[in-house]
Amino acid sequence: MKQNLRSKEVTNLSDVVRLDKLPEKAIIPMRQHDGIACAPLVKKGEAVIVGQKLGECEGSDLAYVHSPFCGTVDSIELMPNPSGKRILSVVLTPSECAQSVDFVPEKNAPPSRLIQIIKEAGIVEYYEKPTYLALKPGKRIDTLLMNATFPLITHAYLNSLDKVLEGFRLMLEASGIPRGVIVVRADDKESIKAFKSAKVDGKPLTVAPIIGKRHADYYLEDVEDQIIVVAAGNITYTPTMMNLLSANVMGRKLPLGGEPSDAHVVVCGVKSAKAVYDAICEGKPYLENVVTVKGAVNNPKSVIVRFGTPIKDVIEACGGYKGEPGKIIVNGSMGGITVYTDEAPIVKNTTGIVVQTKEQVLRDVTSACIHCARCVDACPVNLLPTRIASYSDLGKYEECEHLYAMNCIECGSCAMVCPSKRHLVQLIRYSKLQIQNMCTAEARGGD
Ligand code: SF4
Ligand code: SF4
Repeated sequence: MKQNLRSKEVTNLSDVVRLDKLPEKAIIPMRQHDGIACAPLVKKGEAVIVGQKLGECEGSDLAYVHSPFCGTVDSIELMPNPSGKRILSVVLTPSECAQSVDFVPEKNAPPSRLIQIIKEAGIVEYYEKPTYLALKPGKRIDTLLMNATFPLITHAYLNSLDKVLEGFRLMLEASGIPRGVIVVRADDKESIKAFKSAKVDGKPLTVAPIIGKRHADYYLEDVEDQIIVVAAGNITYTPTMMNLLSANVMGRKLPLGGEPSDAHVVVCGVKSAKAVYDAICEGKPYLENVVTVKGAVNNPKSVIVRFGTPIKDVIEACGGYKGEPGKIIVNGSMGGITVYTDEAPIVKNTTGIVVQTKEQVLRDVTSACIHCARCVDACPVNLLPTRIASYSDLGKYEECEHLYAMNCIECGSCAMVCPSKRHLVQLIRYSKLQIQNMCTAEARGGD
């Protein structure tokens, strides 16, 4: 396991600032999750206020979009997006007015209403699934895991830990899941210290290390607590590593191609727990997130940013570029996506920005595979990266599927060790997309 690859991320970036300066233009995409796009509810020239619903849709996999700003609708058009695509967006000219819709808290609502509030608030998990759907997968679930293994994100919320914990408790109440496990990295001393001094329902939290084969189940059998915290290894579990998170923390093996709910587990994030608190206890829809900014900027820091704010404004809040920017990567340098413009906005699943200067950008020349098998040795989930990438290159996606390409967690370890500098992750990721498209076409009847 390449745990050391990620241990470097525990750096001190706990300097969190709120970006209050209004952007010249806010770009609010009508789709900010992996699901149905919303239809705009506003027209060009219309005035909007904070919290107003801007986009709505029908179906089972939806996340409504609300306005984080007061302002006027400039246009509704295809705009750049951190996903690399151009997405239909409401473009606003924000104004200083602080008017908002009425935020109505409903803390004592029954569970079915709590789920409805989470849905109405448009809350989305860090792996792009709407939270209301993630909490109700239609299977027997006994544990809700909170992935707090992104130290910089977790640190940014330590000042409001009581709200995060209450949001997590409300998620349990809304979903009927009997118990919750908060997972932190074992080397994240700052978060462990904060959780040790936190309380839920007036009782101190149980904070335990996961050692050897003892998994969270081991502690849950021992205590009557509804929520415990476990320190599990030095891995940051990215969105593609949820199965590994469930297996490592709960000790429950997942079937190939399965998902955490197949092991009776649901995963949520720290941000969504805070957003659930805001929605239920303060009546606010999902309007902002913490984004960590690292790399070639003058003052790296964590910034609380309203959705729709262009990346360039966030960079400016971090003192601007340090040197000539060569690459802007959204959501991590290992598995993130390079954006082609800093005009692209911060959206619901944006967790971080890494800037590289022109000199830092690797421009390796790819050569033929020399069959050294280093990528095979490096793969933490025992795949054959070279074989999958070759089939992907040839457009043979069924073969990629047979080699379990969908189990790739996009960690980048194979590409890092490849002496031929092959674009293994990109090819494997592309094959995953094609496999998904094949499955969707099959479900629709082979169109
Ligand atoms: S194939 Fe490469 S990117 Fe995918 S899990 Fe294995 S090492 Fe990581
Ligand atoms: S590490 Fe690179 S060169 Fe070696 S087998 Fe894998 S793809 Fe081929």
